[in-house]
Amino acid sequence: MSDIIQLLPDSVANQIAAGEVVQRPASAVKELIENAIDAGADKIKLIVKDAGKSFIQVIDNGCGMSITDARLCFERHATSKIRQAEDLFAIRTMGFRGEALASIAAIAQVELKSRRVEDELGTIIEIEGSKVISQQPEALPSGTSIAVKNLFYNIPARRNFLKSNSVEMRHIIDEFQRVALAHPSIFFSMHSDGHELFHLPSETLKQRIVHLFGNNYNQRLVPVEEDTTIITVSGFVGKPEFAKKTRGEQFFFVNKRFVKDPYLHHAVMNAYEDILPVDTYPLYVLFIEIDPSKIDINVHPTKTEIKYEDDKAMYAILRSTVKRSLGRYNITPTLDFNQ
Ligand code: ADP
Ligand code: MG
Repeated sequence: MSDIIQLLPDSVANQIAAGEVVQRPASAVKELIENAIDAGADKIKLIVKDAGKSFIQVIDNGCGMSITDARLCFERHATSKIRQAEDLFAIRTMGFRGEALASIAAIAQVELKSRRVEDELGTIIEIEGSKVISQQPEALPSGTSIAVKNLFYNIPARRNFLKSNSVEMRHIIDEFQRVALAHPSIFFSMHSDGHELFHLPSETLKQRIVHLFGNNYNQRLVPVEEDTTIITVSGFVGKPEFAKKTRGEQFFFVNKRFVKDPYLHHAVMNAYEDILPVDTYPLYVLFIEIDPSKIDINVHPTKTEIKYEDDKAMYAILRSTVKRSLGRYNITPTLDFNQ
């Protein structure tokens, strides 16, 4: 018998990898916006059509790419963000694996336009199923625009498994809101089928929360602030009387990255003790800053899970900080009353 093992061609390897990184239009939205943030943009525009199924575009005013980088960014494991293994323990950027654009380009038709401020001309590249179709110089505004058309066009099984437009749109809005909350100083806008859904000027975190969730949130927020040698915590928690029966207003950001963490969630819930109406969930938008060498982000393809060196200490700090903030809010009304 002859040997039977073969190396997969890059296009097939990319398609397989893409299945992990890009599960639905919202995953592509997340990756593209995170790239814009890593590029230092302070203005980011998202355009979707057909809940992202036929069209997703992210336009930023970030650092742009050189002609060579504009081509290289679609290669797998091609990244400007880390260079060596040690860098994995000092990650300050959203991306670092160099997988997103390679994955997206394997399963969609992509048009990249990019120009660095210092270059006279920018580059337009069209790529489809990992194959470059055209590349030419072009006069462009500085920054980057990436348009992703017909996601999963070459994987009918995946395409057929996409949910209704309203469900896919909900996922996109969730991702958009998370990243907009994490970066209130960045101007964000979002357009869907020709309508502007969000227009968020550069603002404070409190203003951003109010902008995203409604004016009445102005009166619902209790500030949280704590600085320890292990972590710093900042943000807002909701007053207990406004807690809701449904979830969806709970946000943790670790080094500005949205994470899902049942253990830390428990710490916050625990801080409310018995002041929460039964079966309700308070709003929280909490930022934890931690030395990147004390965490491992590389646990899950979508990076929404993190392993911490000392999660017990984090739990304790979070719980006592939130508790103290709520306690302070509880006495404030009496003070106001006496004035
Ligand atoms: P990663 O973000 O993990 O590095 P990506 O595949 O998302 O991997 O992007 C590959 C590279 O392309 C990035 O490291 C960056 O250098 C470049 N890039 C991607 N998007 C942008 C953008 N919007 N502006 C400038 N450079 C970008
Ligand atoms: Mg990236």
